[in-house]
Parts: sequence; structure tokens; C-alpha cells
Amino acid sequence: AAPKNRCYGCGVTLQSDSSHRPGFLPPSVQSKRRLQEAFPGTEIRTSDVQDVPTAEPELVADTQSRAVCQRCYRLTHYGMIDPSLRVPATATSDDTQVSSELSPDKFRRNLERLQKINCVIIYLVDIFDFHGTFIPSLRDIVGSKNPILLAVNKTDLLPSDMKDNRVETWIRHECAGMGLFNIGGVHLISSVKGRNVKLLLADAVRIAKKRHSDIYVIGAANVGKSTFINQLVRMLNRKEGHSRSKKAVKRPKTSEALTTSVIPGTTLDVIKIPLGSSVNLYDTPGLMMPHQLTNYLDAADLRAVLPSKTVERVSFRLGEGKALFIGGLARIEVLSGKPFFFTSFFSPEVKVHPGKLEDSAEFTERHIGGLLRPPSSPEAFERLGEWTGKSLTAEGEGWKRSCLDIVFSGLGWVALTGSGSIQLRVCVPRGVGVFTREALM
Ligand code: GDP
Repeated sequence: AAPKNRCYGCGVTLQSDSSHRPGFLPPSVQSKRRLQEAFPGTEIRTSDVQDVPTAEPELVADTQSRAVCQRCYRLTHYGMIDPSLRVPATATSDDTQVSSELSPDKFRRNLERLQKINCVIIYLVDIFDFHGTFIPSLRDIVGSKNPILLAVNKTDLLPSDMKDNRVETWIRHECAGMGLFNIGGVHLISSVKGRNVKLLLADAVRIAKKRHSDIYVIGAANVGKSTFINQLVRMLNRKEGHSRSKKAVKRPKTSEALTTSVIPGTTLDVIKIPLGSSVNLYDTPGLMMPHQLTNYLDAADLRAVLPSKTVERVSFRLGEGKALFIGGLARIEVLSGKPFFFTSFFSPEVKVHPGKLEDSAEFTERHIGGLLRPPSSPEAFERLGEWTGKSLTAEGEGWKRSCLDIVFSGLGWVALTGSGSIQLRVCVPRGVGVFTREALM
């Protein structure tokens, strides 16, 4: 079992200060646990404890020996994770903040166990943060034999004229570039909308049955793993409801069948979902990648930058001496070369502006929270840390197709189109990851 001050479900340190942070245990439940520890064997009734939560009385009853945080409680009992309980760890002032995600070392050690298990792996990646959430040397970690199905999430945010086969080709190409070969299948999914989730699951179950194995879902933090699991549970519940009405057989709801089980040798549990025909699906904890923007932005700014609607496409023609300001989060400066088209793909909440290269840093600081946002305030801007610049040269491929995407991890990207060559400097605060890739569109 997990140590006493840790959640039995996910292993994070329990706390009763903030319901918005991981590991939250309502104060009344804490009090009851303390009473129980002080007077073992005595029955403590809820009336002996103040502030008894009325909404979740079972939580109190269940905590005598194994305390679970509110998030895990809701996940196991209702099959739902309240998004407000998933606050990213910040690398700022509040160092006491715990994270429900794992350090890279622990994550790796956890996953290495999969080498010894015969399993099918559903590997979730975020199309908006493909490089930022890509787990390096995944093949080495999970072994060479286990089939990997790549679930490319958040595809609902892509512009509607983007062709699936183009995305798939691009994904396979990028995976190969990063050393991940022989992928079993690529599924373009949307956990939020449920797009292709059923197909992906059917594919995974088919392979798992053939191999007499289970299915493991893995992925970095924020790729949408919880949303995926919730969607899956909803689908299974619907299916069971359907079969119940047909056969009039009473079966337990899947959310009740969700259980947690410990990965041996760790304090962290995985969520187990029985899929029938002796195939189980396990959800493993997410890895917090060091350059994820979510480490640096506060909740309000994060909501603003993480695209929630289809990204907005805006084009600017920029030549030497000009700059493109992406809120107060990034800046692309044109040092020399003929004018190119810069097409930005960001959440409509991210304000993208063309401007002058001269005094661009001062311009950014002057307009934070106003013309340039997010961040919403100078304080939030400060938290992003020092800025760094990276020079790059792009070779145009003519006006018909973009030659390069400059990707801002988790935010979106800027596609370059033009002819001849152009010299740029991409400036970002420490907290924002930048990658270049072959153009997606
Ligand atoms: P986890 O850390 O991997 O469990 O990620 P979450 O499930 O908490 O999702 C992180 C963020 O991405 C949340 O704001 C979700 O609403 C959002 N998200 C997850 N899946 C999708 C999706 O398919 N489409 C869109 N648009 N957003 C998604």
C-alpha cells in the first residue's frame, strides 16, 4: 500500500489546502483519518467531524485504511476527472505544489516494466505539441516486440481542409526521424469529440486478443490521456446500456468496474478498465516534459493558449526588419532575405501581430496583457523567464507550398512560404519550446 500521507490511487502527497491542486482530500476527511489513527478500532461517525462533505459521503467511509484524493475517488467512482483538479505543476513560487505527473526517471522505470510484459501499447501524442510530448527512445523503453498504436490526439483543432492522409504521412515521417520505427497503426483521434476512438479501441482489442495480451495507454502529460480514458468509459457505458436493453441482463456499469492497481515497486497506481474477453486496458500516469509550457503558465493563461477551438489561420507578408509577435510568448524576427508569407495557426485567443524588428523586446514588454496576450499580466510574463534567440535559415520552395513550420510547443505553429532564402531569429522565453519541422500543410 502507499504510505499514509499519499493517495492510494495515484501516489501523490495528500493535502487539504486547495481543491484545485492534485492530492486534495477534504479537511473533514483528513480529520476523520486523524481521529481514526488516534483511536484505532473506534467507530468514528461523520457527525463527530465538522465540515462533512455532503456530496461524497462514501469518501469518508472509504478512508479508514486507504485514503484516495478527490481526483482518484471521482475517477474510480464516476469515471470522470474534473478538469479543474488537473492543475499543472508550476516551476514558480509555490514549490510545495505537488504534481500528479511523474518525473522522467520514474516514468522511464515504470515503463521499462512493459518490456517484460506481452502487451499492445496505445501511445497518445498531441498533434499540437508533437515534438514537445514525444517520448524519446520509446522503443528502447517498452521493448522491441510490443506493437505500438499511435493515437494522434486533438485533431479536431486542425483546419478542416487538412487531409488525414497528409497528416498520417507526416506523422510517420517525423516518428522515423526520431527513431520510432515499425508503428502498428496511426489513428487520428479526438478524445473530446470521440472521433475515431472506437476504431482505435477495436484495432487495439483485435491485436490484443490475437496476442493474448492486455492494452497499455501511455503518453506525456497534457496530451489528453484523461479525456481519452473518460471518453472510452462513456462509450463502454453506452454500449453496456445498449446491450442491457436488448438482452435485459443487468451488468455492472463500467465506471463501477474501473479499478486501480499498483505497478509493482512503485507508489503509483494505474487505472484498469476491463474490456471483456479477458482483455484489460491500463492507463499509466503521464510524463511531465521539462519544456512543456504548462510548467510555466498560470491556469487562466493556459486556458487562453491551449487551443480549444479550431485554430485560426492568419497570413502576413514580412520582409527584412520586420517581426511577428505571437502574443507575449514568442517573436519571429526577419533579419534578411526577400519577403515571405508567414501563416500562423494559433488559438483565436492568442493575439498575433506584425511589427518592426527594431525595439521589438521593448515593444513586447510595453504591450503585454493588451495588444500582446497572453500572458495576461506583467507578472505572468515575468514567470516565463529569460528570453533566448535561435537563428535559422529557411529555403523557400515557391509560393505553392510552405517550406517549413516553426512550432511553438503546445501553442501552434507558423508556416513559411516563399522563394529564395530568408534569415530569421526566433525568440522565446525559457518556458516555451521551439521546433522546426517539415510543413504540415
Ligand atoms: P492528460 O494530462 O494527458 O490527462 O490531459 P487531459 O485529458 O487533462 O487534457 C489536457 C487538455 O487538452 C485539456 O484542456 C483537454 O480539454 C484538452 N484535450 C484533450 N483531448 C482533446 C481533444 O481531443 N481535442 C481538444 N480540442 N482538446 C483536447
